[in-house]
Amino acid sequence: MKLKIRFLLLMSAIFVGFMSITWLLSHQLMDKLNQQWGEKFTQRQVMFDKFRTLSPLIREIALARQLAAEPAIIDMALHEQDKAMRQRGIAAMERYRFNFRDHSYFAAFAQSGNYYFNDAINQYGGRQLRYTLSPTSPKDKWFYATLVDGKEYQVNIDPDVHLKVTKAWINVLIRNGNETLGIIGTGIDLTELIKETVSVTQEGVENLFIDQSMAIQLNSNPKLIDYMTVAKDVGQRIKVDVLLKNPADIERLRQVMQELARSPADIATLSVDYQGKKHLLGVAYLPEIGWYDLTLMDYRTLDLFDDLILGPVLFSLLLMLTLLVVGWALQRWVLKPIAILRAATDKIRRGDFDIDPPIAGIGEIAHLSRSFADMAKFVNNSKQELENKVRERTEALHRLTEIDPLTGLLNRRGMMDRFENEIARQARQGGSLGLLLLDLDHFKRINDTYGHAAGDLALCEAAKVLQASKRGYDHVARWGGEEFLMLLPECGQEDLLMIAERIREEIGMLQIQAGGQSFSFTVSIGAHHPNSPQTLDTMLQKVDHALYAAKDAGRNCVKVSV
Ligand code: GH3
Ligand code: MG
Ligand code: MG
Repeated sequence: MKLKIRFLLLMSAIFVGFMSITWLLSHQLMDKLNQQWGEKFTQRQVMFDKFRTLSPLIREIALARQLAAEPAIIDMALHEQDKAMRQRGIAAMERYRFNFRDHSYFAAFAQSGNYYFNDAINQYGGRQLRYTLSPTSPKDKWFYATLVDGKEYQVNIDPDVHLKVTKAWINVLIRNGNETLGIIGTGIDLTELIKETVSVTQEGVENLFIDQSMAIQLNSNPKLIDYMTVAKDVGQRIKVDVLLKNPADIERLRQVMQELARSPADIATLSVDYQGKKHLLGVAYLPEIGWYDLTLMDYRTLDLFDDLILGPVLFSLLLMLTLLVVGWALQRWVLKPIAILRAATDKIRRGDFDIDPPIAGIGEIAHLSRSFADMAKFVNNSKQELENKVRERTEALHRLTEIDPLTGLLNRRGMMDRFENEIARQARQGGSLGLLLLDLDHFKRINDTYGHAAGDLALCEAAKVLQASKRGYDHVARWGGEEFLMLLPECGQEDLLMIAERIREEIGMLQIQAGGQSFSFTVSIGAHHPNSPQTLDTMLQKVDHALYAAKDAGRNCVKVSV
């Protein structure tokens, strides 16, 4: 795999890995923050609602309890038929009427079943006795149920169909010792309160109040309020399970309610399913009225810490930027220089040393590319040097194979080369070609008389004469032991003979010094000058015949072949 792809994959893997971890951690963190914040929020909300709901009720309850304890009321309950007592009782109620928030009161007596009522506009002034309750009438059931219930006071939510308001009826028992004489109290219009406390407009937050039996007392949806709870069997009540469908949640709520009943100042939070989503449920106990304030909160919809998402997003952007910069640097400083070096090595592999690789990259890569350039130059120089040496040596060897070491003239092989070339040239261009074959006379004798070294000296001196006689384009070779061959292109027969004669004379005049003695020697020369081009063999044969003829003629002479 290419380095670039490898790095790309590596960087992508790093990016994806880092991002997944960051994403996960930030989400977990946000979840935790949201949950913690949600719990705090819920607790505060519950606390706030608890006191907001409670404060008006508590005041009314206290007033109603005070009224129930008034001797005039107890007397009236005991002696309702006594007009004076009855009027004192009603007078007491009328006094309290102005103090009640609703400016209304009611009183119902167990013995007579008489129901007294007056309202804010004093509609029933002087005729406060409204009607007589009946144990068999369903709409009067609340009275008998409350008496049986025996709680000193309780709050009963009931819509007032005439006034079109929801009222919380504060029912306080009128007691004389252990004897329950009736119920007295007031009603408060809870419509506004419900709007304020349970119709929280904040999305994801919902409030409701339930009583100890979990019957819903206040809810933003009036249809879910269990009106006249006290008058109903537990099984008939609208309870919190209409909202919380998970039985396990209900069970935990029940436990929490029991714990709160023991320590009412606490606020509990638990996690519940609501409308298919996880919600936080804050629970507070209102011991004064025996209710529980529940706040359901979907802290996720609040997205309290959504802004924190900016962190991971910024981080990913930064990481991506970093990886891009690293990738760019890698490309520029490593991969590109390596590609250049690679191209250069490919060129060298193909045998092309004509490279001048640019110094690519920086730092170690630049160093490497410089070293590579130096190495390529060095290899190139060495190669050139080696090639030159080989050429020189080859030429020298070639020369050695063509040159006679003693005289420095061409040897037989060298001469054959030239000879063939001359014949070929003659065939191409025409022209004449003269040939002289020379053999020193009685040379064996010279060797015998003056020694081999003297013979060699004589050979060298004769060679010098030949060398000196040759024109620029003539060739001279030591053809055999003391035999020489001269090749004279573009030389007429007369000139050939003239040259031969001159050579013969000059050699004959040589004086060789050997061991204090001096001697001379002669040469016999065969000459051949064909009128038309001949083969090499024929020419050699002819000139040999001529030499033979010269020897035959007594030596020291020039003979021409016929
Ligand atoms: P001829 O006149 O018939 O040519 O008589 P010759 O003595 O020259 O006869 P031949 O050509 O048969 O003998 C050649 C002699 O040349 C024989 C040999 O000892 C001598 N010789 C050949 N090569 C060399 C050499 O390199 N150095 C010396 N000193 N003598 C050589
Ligand atoms: Mg000979
Ligand atoms: Mg000879």
